[in-house]
Amino acid sequence: MNGAKGGVAGLARRLAAREVSSVEVVRAHLDVIASVESRALGAFLAVDAEHALADAQAADERRARGEAGPLTGVPVAHKDIFVTDHARSGLPTTAGSKMLVGYQSPFDATVVARLGTAGAGMVTLGKLNCDEFAMGSSNENSAFGPVLNPWDATRVPGGSSGGSAAAVAARLVPAATGTDTGGSIRQPASFCGVTGIKPTYGLCSRWGMVAFASSLDQAGPLARTAEDCALLLSAMSGFDARDATSAERPPVDLHAAMQTQREGATAGRPLAGLRIGLPKEFFPAALAADVAGAVRAALAELEKLGATLVDVSLPRTELAIPVYYIIAPAEASSNLSRFDGVRYGHRTAAPADLMALYKHSRSEGFGPEVKRRIMIGTYVLSHGYYDAYYLQAQKLRRMIADDFQACFKQCDVIAGPVAPTVAWRLGAQAGDPVKAYLADIFTLPASLAGLPGMSVPAGTGEGGMPVGLQLIGNYFAEGTLLHAAHALQQATDWHLREPQR
Ligand code: GLN
Repeated sequence: MNGAKGGVAGLARRLAAREVSSVEVVRAHLDVIASVESRALGAFLAVDAEHALADAQAADERRARGEAGPLTGVPVAHKDIFVTDHARSGLPTTAGSKMLVGYQSPFDATVVARLGTAGAGMVTLGKLNCDEFAMGSSNENSAFGPVLNPWDATRVPGGSSGGSAAAVAARLVPAATGTDTGGSIRQPASFCGVTGIKPTYGLCSRWGMVAFASSLDQAGPLARTAEDCALLLSAMSGFDARDATSAERPPVDLHAAMQTQREGATAGRPLAGLRIGLPKEFFPAALAADVAGAVRAALAELEKLGATLVDVSLPRTELAIPVYYIIAPAEASSNLSRFDGVRYGHRTAAPADLMALYKHSRSEGFGPEVKRRIMIGTYVLSHGYYDAYYLQAQKLRRMIADDFQACFKQCDVIAGPVAPTVAWRLGAQAGDPVKAYLADIFTLPASLAGLPGMSVPAGTGEGGMPVGLQLIGNYFAEGTLLHAAHALQQATDWHLREPQR
């Protein structure tokens, strides 16, 4: 069906012009998702065609009554870490875990509600695969099998929002939601050649997001372009009284912010006056040459657009790994205690007593990576070790955040790679979890500081695999990041390249 597929902005325009209906758009996407080739990717965990088509019909009616918003009728899919009201959507929620098989949420996450029929009117196509409880960097920790990278089916799509990135890259959906605790939007976006943004901590509500590490978890969109991300993020963000850490700020129109001309900008130099800081720690000698080359090429384009590059330093970059891998498991061990086979989750068959019920339910329900994190987290919080690990990590976390503030005195945006390499082969890190942890080095600092970060396609590296440029902004400077990324995407075509399948 001509015009029934495309990015968010393009579909929104064609829907508004009545060139195509939401039912046609949704049907076209459902057809692709159902194809053998797409199913082999493993990106979707659940699709409910009946509910999706009914929502599309409702969106078309809303438009006919003149009540449509800019995104009404555009399809989207959600990382299966967001709860979706089962009665409304027909969709289960698993968080990629055996623990939640059979769970039917009685409500929608705030992000889901804001994007969906109760808000912007987007149509939910289904739920996307992810690492179990969002713990991982390759999607191989999902209890429901891996997701393949659409650019090369022998490689991982990244994680934990691997299904989201793969679905957008393979053009199964115009856009998807993801969550990022330590890089889980930016790194899969980089590995799959799509655009993704993790906003400032507190910009999107965590209500209805299955919790991993509550002081770090943030929701955000993955899409083809910065413009599409701006449209989605504007719709899904905003204060929510049900999340105690939600930022009390007036709603922002990031799409407008993205297009607003900078002072002193000219047509050829839209980024004139923008200072981009390059932390020397983000360009170590050991950085893979293909990644460094792609990132440098993108930086050269930003310079052509008027930006100036300045050298800065984030001296505690390396410490972000131990700090994160203490704090995140600590919070996870506490958050996951609710999955006990009584209140939530898988319950073992015929336990001998209450202790056996807890033990067997949890050991059967959780996968190996989740168990590892619960053990680490419980250990670092335990009496006698708390001061040595958890408290130290908290102090360093503050210093990492302070280092960023020192940088932002010299620059407006910080840039570097998203990941040290392109997507690795499936199974390459099996049995060596620390190898995966180390690969998070460039995404963890912004997460610990609560800063917004994004991944923008910046060409390809080894094996023709995509490379992402990371842009990090100061608190609530999403508009600046999207503006810079949009300017780059107006001048280059890296974000338009598609995997050949
Ligand atoms: N790779 C990191 C981890 O495994 C980040 C995951 C995330 O952001 N959800 O914890």
